[in-house]
Amino acid sequence: MKSRTARILLLLLLSVSPACAPAAAPRGTLSGPPAEKGSFRKPDLVELVRLDRTVRLDIRYATPNNFARRAVYSEARAFLQRPAAQAMIRAHRALATHGYGILVFDGYRPWSVTKLFWEIVTPQDRARGFVANPAKGSKHNRGCAVDLSLYDVATGAESAMPSAYDEFSDRASPDYRGGPKELLERRDLLRKTMEAEGFEVDPGEWWHYNYRDWREYPILDVPFEKIPAAAPLAARRR
Ligand SMILES: [Zn+2]
Repeated sequence: MKSRTARILLLLLLSVSPACAPAAAPRGTLSGPPAEKGSFRKPDLVELVRLDRTVRLDIRYATPNNFARRAVYSEARAFLQRPAAQAMIRAHRALATHGYGILVFDGYRPWSVTKLFWEIVTPQDRARGFVANPAKGSKHNRGCAVDLSLYDVATGAESAMPSAYDEFSDRASPDYRGGPKELLERRDLLRKTMEAEGFEVDPGEWWHYNYRDWREYPILDVPFEKIPAAAPLAARRR
């Protein structure tokens, strides 16, 4: 009787064992970047301030001062793939003739952070395209998108623009025509200068620029602390 009970218990255990297996990712969540077909260039993320120390940084995602209300980067650093970084530096130097320099809010963004953003925003904000879908990845994940504004070289102060960075409103559009003319002209000068170097502005965000070669780079999920300060990043994908 005892052994029969034990056998029944064992059978019961075996029959429920799939539920006891290590938990799979809940339905609808992703455990890693999407698999992509095709060949890509070898990633070569470059720290922007290493190309020109006069580029200024305000890495909001390394502080709680962002829409996520928490630091999502371990370090206040900004990177782009080398050709995009070099193009942005050329724009920075061209803007100096107008008395401006580039102020960077964000560059390369690990895929895990894109996934986190997707999970914390409302379904309405997802539908409005305020955050990238991690199932597709973001151009920031490829190291080919940069969020930036201008600073005044004479004073060092951030230059006013028609909206704040990451302001989810109509004023964020690069085609918004309201407000002071001076601010619109400054925003348009930034756009013209970036476009001349191969960047395209996002239709909903005056601060977001995509580099023309973004399709040639893979989605990456390398945390900042793993990116060497000076040496180029070796190819690494998950
Ligand atoms: Zn952006």
